Amino acid sequence: AGTAVAQDKITVATDTNFKPFSFKNDEGNYVGFDIDMWQAIAEKMDADYELRPMDFNGIIPGLQTGNVDVAVAGMSVTAKREKVIDFSYPYYKAGLVIMVRADNSDIGKLEDLSGKVVATKQGTSTIPFLKENIEAGVLDPTEIKKYPNITDAFLELRAGGTDAVIFDLPPLADYANGVGKDAVKLVGPLYMGHHYGIGFPAGSELRDPVNVAILELKESGEYDKIYKKWFGSEP
Ligand code: GLN
Repeated sequence: AGTAVAQDKITVATDTNFKPFSFKNDEGNYVGFDIDMWQAIAEKMDADYELRPMDFNGIIPGLQTGNVDVAVAGMSVTAKREKVIDFSYPYYKAGLVIMVRADNSDIGKLEDLSGKVVATKQGTSTIPFLKENIEAGVLDPTEIKKYPNITDAFLELRAGGTDAVIFDLPPLADYANGVGKDAVKLVGPLYMGHHYGIGFPAGSELRDPVNVAILELKESGEYDKIYKKWFGSEP
């Protein structure tokens, strides 16, 4: 049952622009899968919270300094991050994918990005992924453009300033199937399969009650309902 947490108000970092997990809708409210899931978790915990949307780049430092108590931001669980912050149980399975202009016919996989300009989002798990693959000789791009907001990389792709965008599948699929339909397409396999987890400062007492709440939401079917609302199908 909902575990009460002895804390006034939990400060919850989220991403300003990571559709469909956390983004601003036309009314100016932050909505998305992460927002709904956290709301359900907080209800289970009987906890008060305050959302703090910020650039993804600032979220891990924010947890490390204790500026925020929790981060729900489509955050990939990686070994490097697990050393400096704590993660909840995984709650979503994702990976990285390549997006090109709809008329592109010479990029179909990671290796094809050699000699090309590639764009992605600053401070995200795509950066070390590219670095490792460049060091391993898999690809040799001429330039990597890094944006605080991935939607700027989408615009750069359409304007011809980059040959490809590589980033998490969900926001790219959302764009390629929505606003960017006819202008862009996804190509190739899913790279670096990984899970999203909720982040905490190392040693946080919130992790256990949040994990209990995640399990409760999964067992009760509430998780599936929220999932269906944002992704259109059962997990
Ligand atoms: N999943 C990616 C990461 O954790 C991107 C997250 C985001 O941009 N909100 O690095």
